[in-house]
Amino acid sequence: MKDYTLTTESNKSKLNNYFIKSIPFKGELLKPCPGTKGYICCGYQILNIGANCPLDCSYCILQSYFKDGGLRVFSNLEERIGEVITVIESTPERIYRIGTGEFTDSLALDPLTKWTSLLIPLFAERKNLILELKTKTTSIKGLIDSRHRRGIIVSWSLNSPFISERDESKSPSIKARLMAARKCQQEGFSLGFHFDPLVTHRGWQDQYLRTLELLAQYINPKAIVWISMGSFRYMPELKPIIRKRHPDTRILDGEFIMGLDGKMRYFKPIRIELYSYMRHHFESWDKDLGLYLCMESNEVWQQSMGWSPGKTEMLSDYLDARVRKFFG
Ligand code: SF4
Repeated sequence: MKDYTLTTESNKSKLNNYFIKSIPFKGELLKPCPGTKGYICCGYQILNIGANCPLDCSYCILQSYFKDGGLRVFSNLEERIGEVITVIESTPERIYRIGTGEFTDSLALDPLTKWTSLLIPLFAERKNLILELKTKTTSIKGLIDSRHRRGIIVSWSLNSPFISERDESKSPSIKARLMAARKCQQEGFSLGFHFDPLVTHRGWQDQYLRTLELLAQYINPKAIVWISMGSFRYMPELKPIIRKRHPDTRILDGEFIMGLDGKMRYFKPIRIELYSYMRHHFESWDKDLGLYLCMESNEVWQQSMGWSPGKTEMLSDYLDARVRKFFG
């Protein structure tokens, strides 16, 4: 892929005041999402394409992973991607749900790195995998220019307008994200949405309803493979970083308890209230949205969703079934 290496003299580029360094990556490119101890996870695979993100959301866990604030993209991705294809081809009976949006935004740097033009032709159309590109941006040109559609899920992270304006201030508005999603839908892509982190704040019910109304206005639910929900949670060491880097945020207001995985979370009744409220409104829009919870307990699943997969393997099966329904 010609354009992958950033071409400034020092091999560094600047975006949103970040320096982007292009370096070879020596670790494992494809890894199972570590999930979190004591909760039901989704059995996702992470494809490592870069480290850190220019969107700088106040709640982002990456602030504690990459303390120097530097952005890195991996210059040897093209060279090494064959390793991933070999793994996938060696287990044809298994469905791989692969995402690139865990350690960076999947599309924020795409205009520079052209990740989509490397990954989509290699990953699309393969029977046993889907590639999920998770973003808060409107950088969809690389997708639209591609001739592939099958096996690609383009996903947007959404939040309430209040949280979007204050805590995702370097990302496009919710409306702009949904307009990009609609364009992708019109161009034949399947979509996903992630409401994570759901945050309690004054008037959160009306605020989230505004986002759900926009979602219904712009998107045809029939193209939605899944919608996930997760409530705000954080490792204790992230709190002072958030306080220092985002002094105006309100996301740390309220009470939290330490969960089974050592992360601070809302009390269970609050999490159940958040998910139940969202589920009620999702289901009054469409009953077949592939709703699921990210890193939640059996009890919270039962009380908010009315059922529970019970364990990670069963949530994996549920999401694999969604993949088969959309892509055969
Ligand atoms: S878009 Fe995602 S990866 Fe980027 S800063 Fe926000 S939460 Fe972190």
